[in-house]
Amino acid sequence: MPLLYVPTIYVLMLSVMVLLGALSFFAWLQNRAIRALAWWSGAVLVMAAALGLLCLRGTIPDVYSVDLAYVVLFSACALMLEGARCFEGKRPSPAVLLAGALVWIAVCQIPALYASATARMIIVSAAVGSYSLGCAYVLWRGRAEPLLSRWPLIVLTALGGGLFLVRIPLAVVSPLAEAPIASFDALRSFWFAIVSTFTLLYFIAINYLFLALTKERSELAHKRASMTDALTGLANRRAFLEFAAQRLNARASGTVAFLVFDLDWFKAINDGHGHAMGDRVLRLFAHTLSANLPRDSIAGRLGGEEFAAIVSGPDQRATIAAAERVRESFAAAAGVVDGVPIAATVSIGVAHAHDQPADIEALCERADKALYRAKALGRNRVERAVDEFVPLVPEASVEADVTPADLLIPPPEQARRAMKRAAA
Ligand code: GH3
Ligand code: MG
Ligand code: MG
Repeated sequence: MPLLYVPTIYVLMLSVMVLLGALSFFAWLQNRAIRALAWWSGAVLVMAAALGLLCLRGTIPDVYSVDLAYVVLFSACALMLEGARCFEGKRPSPAVLLAGALVWIAVCQIPALYASATARMIIVSAAVGSYSLGCAYVLWRGRAEPLLSRWPLIVLTALGGGLFLVRIPLAVVSPLAEAPIASFDALRSFWFAIVSTFTLLYFIAINYLFLALTKERSELAHKRASMTDALTGLANRRAFLEFAAQRLNARASGTVAFLVFDLDWFKAINDGHGHAMGDRVLRLFAHTLSANLPRDSIAGRLGGEEFAAIVSGPDQRATIAAAERVRESFAAAAGVVDGVPIAATVSIGVAHAHDQPADIEALCERADKALYRAKALGRNRVERAVDEFVPLVPEASVEADVTPADLLIPPPEQARRAMKRAAA
């Protein structure tokens, strides 16, 4: 009794392929926004139909087991490539979808090609190999998106495509024995069954990886949404504090500043021009912030009309200059918003990190106090934490006998009075 009964392998293979296609289809039903899953499940189901027809070679007429089988097979490969293209945000392309099938229909019209086993093998290998390599290429082009499952999927589709293409020179060097198509009985061919089994394993692997890929993308999108402020697109409070703590602990050299921003008289903007205009001003500020801070800064919305940023620079003058740039740019940009005179401004408090690792809560508190002083001193200004003694003048001009304590900036009288009033 033979160890492997070939028809059983085919029945098993087809059942598993149909199951895989159905599972991908079900995954698409659960989340119809991921249209790539629909393409993918279509590819697997159509591939099952193609393999079913190929398995019956010698049992059913050639027009079904060869002519139609390869039209269906090439269409399945095209659907797979469309699935990958759709995943990368590309529109379906009729050229991609029809190319393989049209090539095969053309081959069927040329008796010399159709009758030659070597020519058929070269054409089939070229079509399947190109579609598979196309898949790998499309996924590779989207590699900037950090999805782990992308890489094994690229490797598998490139490997599968490469193996098919390698068959072409081999077929040229040692042509296949020419025999009439109908004399080949797939149901009795052990090697055909082995190749089919590997095809099945290959499909199980890439189907799993494709589902994992879509799942990873959804998870990444949810994670991003949970860390982003929906109105401004900046990091939300939780994400900002998390990133800020990482940055403060990882800093190597130079100066790091914690900046807090609070829009001035914002309630009056809401009351006078409506909440929608308030929202527009908040978005404008977020944009101004991103555009004017150094590239490696971290910015976030703490809540309401309060924002914060971590800014690095060679020295304190650089970080204060960045804060001043934001203040001035915002005053210029928010003078007139959508044709309405708004004249919005921002007050900024700055505290520089002295310790390593920095205590983010203490830093935030010092910056907050500086912000409070900026408000008390008339708004639309930048104030440093009162305990900062490093002067904002070139080092060389600082007198040698001036002690750090001499350079402390005393809280101004007006601010002290305002603080007292607030505390009372
Ligand atoms: P100050 O100069 O002292 O900071 O005064 P202010 O009016 O800016 O401060 P206040 O805290 O009194 O007002 C903040 C306002 O921000 C009140 C609240 O309605 C508004 N606000 C908070 N979140 C949003 C938002 O998402 N959109 C809009 N349009 N307004 C918001
Ligand atoms: Mg506020
Ligand atoms: Mg405010």
